[in-house]
Amino acid sequence: WKADPEAHTPPPLQEPSGPSPPSQAQQKESVQAVRRSLPVFPFREELLAAIADHQVLIIEGETGSGKTTQIPQYLFEEGYTKKGMKIACTQPRRVAAMSVAARVAREMGVKLGNEVGYSIRFEDCTSERTVLRYMTDGMLLREFLSEPDLASYSVVMVDEAHERTLHTDILFGLIKDVARFRPELKVLVASATLDTARFSTFFDDAPVFRIPGRRFPVDIFYTKAPEADYLEACVVSVLQIHVTQPPGDILVFLTGQEEIEAACEMLQDRCRRLGSKIRELLVLPIYANLPSDMQARIFQPTPPGARKVVVATNIAETSLTIEGIIYVLDPGFCKQKSYNPRTGMESLTVTPCSKASANQRAGRAGRVAAGKCFRLYTAWAYQHELEETTVPEIQRTSLGNVVLLLKSLGIHDLMHFDFLDPPPYETLLLALEQLYALGALNHLGELTTSGRKMAELPVDPMLSKMILASEKYSCSEEILTVAAMLSVNNSIFYRPKDKVVHADNARVNFFLPGGDHLVLLNVYTQWAESGYSSQWCYENFVQFRSMRRARDVREQLEGLLERVEVGLSSCQGDYIRVRKAITAGYFYHTARLTRSGYRTVKQQQTVFIHPNSSLFEEQPRWLLYHELVLTTKEFMRQVRGPSFAQESEDVWGGRILARFNLLRLAEKQENINLR
Ligand code: ADP
Ligand code: MG
Repeated sequence: WKADPEAHTPPPLQEPSGPSPPSQAQQKESVQAVRRSLPVFPFREELLAAIADHQVLIIEGETGSGKTTQIPQYLFEEGYTKKGMKIACTQPRRVAAMSVAARVAREMGVKLGNEVGYSIRFEDCTSERTVLRYMTDGMLLREFLSEPDLASYSVVMVDEAHERTLHTDILFGLIKDVARFRPELKVLVASATLDTARFSTFFDDAPVFRIPGRRFPVDIFYTKAPEADYLEACVVSVLQIHVTQPPGDILVFLTGQEEIEAACEMLQDRCRRLGSKIRELLVLPIYANLPSDMQARIFQPTPPGARKVVVATNIAETSLTIEGIIYVLDPGFCKQKSYNPRTGMESLTVTPCSKASANQRAGRAGRVAAGKCFRLYTAWAYQHELEETTVPEIQRTSLGNVVLLLKSLGIHDLMHFDFLDPPPYETLLLALEQLYALGALNHLGELTTSGRKMAELPVDPMLSKMILASEKYSCSEEILTVAAMLSVNNSIFYRPKDKVVHADNARVNFFLPGGDHLVLLNVYTQWAESGYSSQWCYENFVQFRSMRRARDVREQLEGLLERVEVGLSSCQGDYIRVRKAITAGYFYHTARLTRSGYRTVKQQQTVFIHPNSSLFEEQPRWLLYHELVLTTKEFMRQVRGPSFAQESEDVWGGRILARFNLLRLAEKQENINLR
């Protein structure tokens, strides 16, 4: 493959500082030039012909070749959206769906939300006119609820298939089924250069269309000895690259928001101290919760003389392509969910990434020219310690949500669902058992009325149960707030290093007897009373951004209440009612104090109250927790007590024990034997 020099012209996002800005026609011309320079472009006709010829096509192409942004546009130009038909393109990540849709809207010269839009949980930027729909895989899954045959779609493109997220995997099974009785539906499965043979086999040997990649050589460097503190090592390495290496931007892979913010702060700090001794270094973070205006900044061309360093999560591995990256810094870690069906514990931990991931990351350095990848681990570790590939999410997550959704789609025989890789039996059973306990399924494993309503809400079954229960206890206003705050829960309080004492005092001021849920409610209520003020947030060490998001989520949930027949009502300060509703959803998460910490009632696990909790000092005898997080210990986050026993009478009466012994029932339902 010979590189096309025209390809390296960056898109003119900012106008050159000439005397007259380029005319609209000129801008349009250059957008088209950039489009024509992408590796997929020479294959446009061939690709469209293949799509016309085959119902299912697997498309494999190097990251950045134009799969996500171009193919849906080609289909649009080819007339696949005539008669109001729509094209869906799924993304595993929210940020990618938003950013790519914005890019495509710009390329097509339309306003985002008109012909091109995106739809992610709690945020819908589409309209009647939207024919190109970028959406998270989870959102397309929900589309099946309202339109089981996806009748309004002419093409479904499952993008980033190699990521193998839970929702993408479930989509495979559902779409394969729909395709059988909708021969005119086109299915595209797009993936980086990984795993495509498996997709082809799964879709009855569908043909694979390969877009030849454009990749320059990347030199890989390893450390001689393992790094004890990879964050510090990262910061030092970035500065080293900046000082010693020729021009070219740097991409750093870290595992999450906290780490990224810390690294950015450290980098900015040191740059400031070095002052004019070094050239300008632009430090730009990118992670899921970053506001979209900040996200857009990573795509802006680097000013001449300066260097850009993008500090990213896995999102930059394959979902987003940033032009101009020559150096990649890879500490070799990612945040991964894992789930133990025996204990019912889900945890998100920093783990070594796979070899496949490491290679994708390195590849990001060789897109525009020969590049370098610095791995902050040893060559030996790469060879011997990294797994070949990442385990698909379906095998390391809880399945409550997905099982409820499949049941609402009328799929009863989950054990024989067409999975690309099946989940562990125990995980499926536990999900069924939990849904039964929540009253979403009856003793025959059929969806109940309440289960049908629970599936309507785009949240976890326990959370939706809590929302439904607020009808009975007339406190939906408060419960909506609690639900919204729980969905942004880890980023409400702001704790800057230089004001730890002030911040902690401010947090304690929100404490109310009865636990963390009520604290969250209290924060939100006071904020609302301040007129949703950012100043108020600032004064109280509360993150304005998180609050704004909670407000959005709350509005979205409120809009769905009617569908699930819950009226708006307030408990008027009678918090016992709020607590009852919480218990109705979360009774599974009960823990009792013992001499060696708390024990969960259901799984008999030893757990501890998170030090940030308002009940940390009090250590009540009974507790109910929102979630478990594994950091240094297994912690319960967002706990509430202590009058739990007294409420429990009313909410789940004596039935709890019966409900806790459900294995046999689940076995019977699914007609399998586990012992
Ligand atoms: P693929 O899906 O094959 O990885 P994409 O279609 O995402 O490729 O990317 C094609 C090109 O579009 C890349 O060169 C990338 O830099 C550019 N691009 C994508 N999104 C944006 C954006 N938001 N801003 C600027 N350029 C973008
Ligand atoms: Mg893509």
